[in-house]
Amino acid sequence: MNNIIEIKNLKKYFAVPQGTLHAVDDVTLSIPEGKTLGVVGESGCGKSTLGRTIIRLLEPTSGDVYYNGENIISKSKAEVKKLRRDLQMIFQDPYESLDPRMNVSRLITEPLIINKLYTGNGEREKVVSEMLELVGISEKLKGSYPHELDGGTRQRVGIARALALDPKFIVCDEPVSALDVSIQAQVINLLQRLQESKNLTYMFITHNLSVARHISDIICVMYLGQVIELAERYELFSNTLHPYSQALLSAIPVPSTHNRRTRIILKSELTSPLNPKPGCRFAPRCIHAKPECFEVTPELKDVGNNHKVACHLV
Ligand code: SF4
Repeated sequence: MNNIIEIKNLKKYFAVPQGTLHAVDDVTLSIPEGKTLGVVGESGCGKSTLGRTIIRLLEPTSGDVYYNGENIISKSKAEVKKLRRDLQMIFQDPYESLDPRMNVSRLITEPLIINKLYTGNGEREKVVSEMLELVGISEKLKGSYPHELDGGTRQRVGIARALALDPKFIVCDEPVSALDVSIQAQVINLLQRLQESKNLTYMFITHNLSVARHISDIICVMYLGQVIELAERYELFSNTLHPYSQALLSAIPVPSTHNRRTRIILKSELTSPLNPKPGCRFAPRCIHAKPECFEVTPELKDVGNNHKVACHLV
C-alpha cells in the first residue's frame, strides 16, 4: 500500500529560558493512503506539535516529511502554500478556531477565497451548499454565527472548512475532546464516512485510547516527544508491550463485571521534555525500571508483526 505520508527523524525543539524543549524528538513513521494513524499520549507529549510540524504550520528543527514522495520540508513557503490544499487540519476547539465575526457561509468560503478557487459566478455558493450537505448541516444555518451554534455543529463547520479545499490528508487534532460524549460519536462517525467516500488519510490526535481504538488503523503512542510504541490497532490492543501503553490501556473502562482490568496507576505526573538526559524518559514513572533504563535510551525496535517498541524489557 502506498504511504501518502512518510516522516523521517523529525525533530521540533523550542528554545525556552530554561533550555531546549524537545517537543518532537526523532520521530520516524509512515501513514498509508486512506488509513488513519491514531496518535495517543498525555497532554504535553508532543502529539499536537507533531501534527502541526508535519503540515508545516510549524517549521521543524530537522528531519524530513514526504507527501506522496515529495519532500515537504525542502519546499519554499510559496510551494507549501500550494500544497496546503492537500494537507488540512481540524482543530480541537471549534469555538476558538472559527472567526466569530464570520457566518457559516463565509467561514466555508474563506479558504476558497484565500486559495483563489471557484471564482466563477455562484460557484462558491455551490461549494458551500455541497459542504453543508456533506457534513449534515441544514442550509438554514448558512447565515448563523459560531456563537449561535452548538458544539457539534461548530465542529462540523470546522470539518466543512477543511473539506472545501478537497484535501487528501487531514491532521485531526483532538477534534472531539471539547464535545459532549453523545456528539463525539456523531462527529467520529462523520469523519469515518467522509474517509470512506473520499479516500482521506487521517492523523487522529487524541489523549483518549478508546477513541483511538475506534477510529485508527495504526496506533502510535507518544511519550515526552518520542514514539514509544507503534503497531496496527489489533496488534497493539491484543499485545500491548510498553509499560506506559499498558498503563494507558488499563485506564479504559471495561463494560463487564466479570472481566475487570487492574488499573495501573502511574507514579507521578508527566515531566517536561526540557533538556532530556540519556535513558528512558518514562523511567521515573515505570514500575519495571532497572538501572540501565536511567542511562541507556531504548531504541524503537521492530519485534515482529510491524510492531515497534522502545523498551529494554522487550
Ligand atoms: Fe520501563 Fe525501562 Fe522499559 Fe523504560 S526501558 S519502559 S523504564 S522497563
